[in-house]
Amino acid sequence: MKNVTGLTCVICDKTYPADFAGYVCTDHGNEGILDVSYDYDAIAAEWTKEDLAANRDRTMWRYKPVMPVAPDAEVPQLTVGGTPMYDAAPLANDLGIAKVWVKDEGRQPTASLKDRASAMAVVKAREVGAEVVTTASTGNAAAALSGISASIGQKNVIFVPKSAPEAKIAQLLAYGSTVALVNGNYGDAFELCMLAAAEYGWYNRNTGYNPFMTEGKKTAGWEILEDLDWNIPDAIFVSVGDGSIIGGVHKAMKDAVALGWIEKSPRIYGIQAAGSDYMVQAFESGEDILTKAPIAADTVADSISADLPRDRIKAMRAVTETGGAYVRVSDDEILTALPLMARGSGVFAEPAGATAYAGLIKAVAEGLVTSSDEVVVLSTGSGLKDVASAMKAVTAAGTTPMVVDPNLEALKQALVKGTKQ
Ligand SMILES: *Cc1c(COP(=O)(O)O)cnc(C)c1O
Ligand SMILES: [Zn+2]
Repeated sequence: MKNVTGLTCVICDKTYPADFAGYVCTDHGNEGILDVSYDYDAIAAEWTKEDLAANRDRTMWRYKPVMPVAPDAEVPQLTVGGTPMYDAAPLANDLGIAKVWVKDEGRQPTASLKDRASAMAVVKAREVGAEVVTTASTGNAAAALSGISASIGQKNVIFVPKSAPEAKIAQLLAYGSTVALVNGNYGDAFELCMLAAAEYGWYNRNTGYNPFMTEGKKTAGWEILEDLDWNIPDAIFVSVGDGSIIGGVHKAMKDAVALGWIEKSPRIYGIQAAGSDYMVQAFESGEDILTKAPIAADTVADSISADLPRDRIKAMRAVTETGGAYVRVSDDEILTALPLMARGSGVFAEPAGATAYAGLIKAVAEGLVTSSDEVVVLSTGSGLKDVASAMKAVTAAGTTPMVVDPNLEALKQALVKGTKQ
């Protein structure tokens, strides 16, 4: 991997070699997350926008020159990446802004953006000859590791809170992972997974710990830029739990700036649920996120429920270095946004995906986004992941189906009644 110059601690900037056997900075423990550094001059000398455009591989691996993998690295065959981004004119009209694009990560093989990170994890695990790969997760990272592992016959052990939505647990069991349903929340599952990984020597995919997960997730940011033909949007909206996705989107922007492919990053906005708003609190108060105590997270958007965002240093920089902001939305606002986004774009998201759109609604109301702005909403996971919440959302919106006897007369009566309502 001659494109990688090393792994740099986000706290002290100490740099470790590209083939460093650990995961985090030896001086800073689990908070000392490493960031992959690249030799951008060497990359730019060998790789151009034209080369990229000519590449017929539509998966995330088309960005290999800026990924920590060898050019000939074998990758899992599931199609990860290449998700569509839609120009959602009805949403832009509703909000009174220039453009809204919705990027649909529900189209990934296991139906969330996490496939990008998990695909990277299994490639890195194979590099070091790991027998078993493990992760803790609120559900989607688990489903992603589980599915991608199944596609290559990789043994894996998964830790999720017992309260994870049924669809996510069903995925894990269908893919044949060894599954531990933890009596506790995501934080508890994370700690147990860390202990088990250390005890058994399993390859550790954990978010905000394994330095390569950012490098997988950033390919979503690369796709946004490439889809827009390197004309950057004004802002990108991302929901935030651990803060790894938003850090990844920011990394893509920094990569592209370093290569000279774009001039600057769009503003990046991080959206959190009011019941899981660690980053918003710190953004507003200016508290030091290295010492700020964990909160007790509770939100309908299970994928972004985090007491202590593991990747908070990268997550805070994504916003502060791009002129964005952290924005808080209530569970009600999330559930309101879910059918609104579905109706205005055709993209049906799970609550954590709709959170990004709820954040955009709020940002427009607060004047953070104005009428000339062109905005990307990253819809991180499919609505089919959590049907119970979707039903709650449409019920709250007052949407009810007609129940009819199977004859035309009954339908006519029901339609008349429906229009009277
Ligand atoms: C994981 C996840 C998020 C949040 O990502 P973080 O990296 O934890 O901030 C948002 N939406 C969905 C659907 C997810 O699965
Ligand atoms: Zn350090």
